Amino acid sequence: MTNHKLKAGIKRSVGKGDTMALKTDKTEVVELLKALMNIESTSEKELEIGQYLEKYIQSRGFTAERIAIAPGSTRHNVYAYLGQERKARLLVTAHMDTVPPHIPVSIDGDVIRGRGACDDLGPMVAQIFAVEELRAEGKLKEGDVSFLWVVGEEKGGPGMIAANDMGLTWEAGLFAEPTEGKVAKGHKGNLSATLLLFDALNDLREVELPVSDLLGPSTLNIGKIEGGAGYNILAAEAKALCSIRVSKDVEGIKEAVRAAIDKHPDVDVDFKFQYTEMLLEWGFEGFEAEPMAYGTDIPRLRGDHRKVLYGPGSIQVAHGTDEYILISGLMESIEKNKVLILGLLK
Ligand SMILES: [Zn+2]
Repeated sequence: MTNHKLKAGIKRSVGKGDTMALKTDKTEVVELLKALMNIESTSEKELEIGQYLEKYIQSRGFTAERIAIAPGSTRHNVYAYLGQERKARLLVTAHMDTVPPHIPVSIDGDVIRGRGACDDLGPMVAQIFAVEELRAEGKLKEGDVSFLWVVGEEKGGPGMIAANDMGLTWEAGLFAEPTEGKVAKGHKGNLSATLLLFDALNDLREVELPVSDLLGPSTLNIGKIEGGAGYNILAAEAKALCSIRVSKDVEGIKEAVRAAIDKHPDVDVDFKFQYTEMLLEWGFEGFEAEPMAYGTDIPRLRGDHRKVLYGPGSIQVAHGTDEYILISGLMESIEKNKVLILGLLK
């Protein structure tokens, strides 16, 4: 049954030259995106869309796991892979949650409107069909690729943070967000970044730092704050350089700092002397590259995997009332995702 279903949407067609290309039927792409967008999946209400995705990907012949992000939590990530091997070389990942309010899906010609169209369900669907086409073309085998769909990217990233506890590592991660079809060179803070930063710093000041009998209390210093361009312009990015004189328990302090900052979805913490800076990989032939002015889940998944951020659709409309994606952009993105996936598996 699963094999039969798998083949249903894929038409064989002979492309230019002698290569056999397998093309996904456009209606199938639209149907899946519509079905996902019909489910309200605002942050903290991701159970139903996760159940849908689990069933869907199982019907395509994948092994799927729904994993609670904390013991007893009804918030579940979905992890899927081919066969029995959980460990895969490449992680293909997107987030299931959307920002409120839920906006019902509507289609007008080439335009799909509604919540999640471009952030992040459209980019997720493009990844799914890219993997499916590569699989149908015989270019993927067990252990090459796994999917991870996380909860809560829009609200603190508890899903991706929990993914660190899966006991898995990957050689590379392909992260889906609307990048206008470009490969992201990196990503920065958000609008009014200075205010977001202040909120986070306030929470940071509340963190109780450990006291050592010998050395006394650990102390926080907010040493330098930068950001903004003028008093009447919303700051696009901001950063604070802070130091903590550690009198004991450096790991405990890092955890406490991370917990305080993780409450602020648009602020990332970077332990300068503990980890190297996060760099995205962007030198792919045939792709434009650009820095992205928003935060993602990428820094939340620890590990030294290669990191690529790519997806159809524009962040400009992502959280607005007119969120949309173009069907033509989705279809093109399936092709582009295939190139990235094969490139990362080389
Ligand atoms: Zn997103």
